[in-house]
Amino acid sequence: MTATPAWPPQSAPRLHVGTLLGTGVSVPIDGNPAHYLISVMRVKPDDIVLLFDGRSGEWAAKARDIRKRDLILEVISQTRPPEHVPDFWLCCAPIKKGRIDLIAEKACELGVAKLQPVLTRRAVVDRLNLDRLHAHLVEAAEQCGRTALPDLGDMVKLDALLRDWPGDRWLFFADETGGDPLADTLRARPGPAAFLIGPEGGFDPVEREAIRAHPRSVPVSLGPRILRAETAAIAATTAWMTINGDWR
Ligand code: SAM
Repeated sequence: MTATPAWPPQSAPRLHVGTLLGTGVSVPIDGNPAHYLISVMRVKPDDIVLLFDGRSGEWAAKARDIRKRDLILEVISQTRPPEHVPDFWLCCAPIKKGRIDLIAEKACELGVAKLQPVLTRRAVVDRLNLDRLHAHLVEAAEQCGRTALPDLGDMVKLDALLRDWPGDRWLFFADETGGDPLADTLRARPGPAAFLIGPEGGFDPVEREAIRAHPRSVPVSLGPRILRAETAAIAATTAWMTINGDWR
């Protein structure tokens, strides 16, 4: 018996595009994505490329009009509906380049809905290149099969974050000085949530007091060891996804 060919082919390249996708839509591709498809992936006419726009799921498109530096992708059918994204935000202080990039990449892979940079007093970095972080989110989504990109918030100061915090969202505060045991605390509080992770230098006492005083804040411990900020961000997201997210 002839095996049914897998559709779309597993090896098809996957690309995020800014165009809203639908059957029959033609998507012109140039620049780096065209270089990737034409020179790296050696896409030929009629080859399939998987596309997602962050809103409408995933689509199979056929390559045509391939030239040296550009090509057209013509959408032929939907391969996956839009995904359900668990309602989880990762709020973290900016940390050094490379380490914050790692947080963006892993947050996207782990399934967060939003990455929210938060400026705190002891942050050693007070500016972030949001375009670079966005590029890391896109690359991670292309690689891990997400159809929705996480939102990327503009950096906000901690006091503004607390002031404007939505009343229906838990704010799990990763407090290196101690907090409630993680698993039981999360299990008892399903629903929209966020984790707040401090910078390399941690939170200062005034900040810690303000966070703890917030009505939606729940201080939690990530264990007896002091984790690097990026480890804490990845571990906290993993724990929430396991207990209240879509890993169940
Ligand atoms: N400089 C701080 C100190 O020595 O106490 C450590 C800060 S830690 C590198 C960065 C952030 O990761 C902390 O602000 C906290 O949000 C989180 N974190 C690290 N270890 C943690 C733990 N065991 N429990 C809860 N949060 C932790």
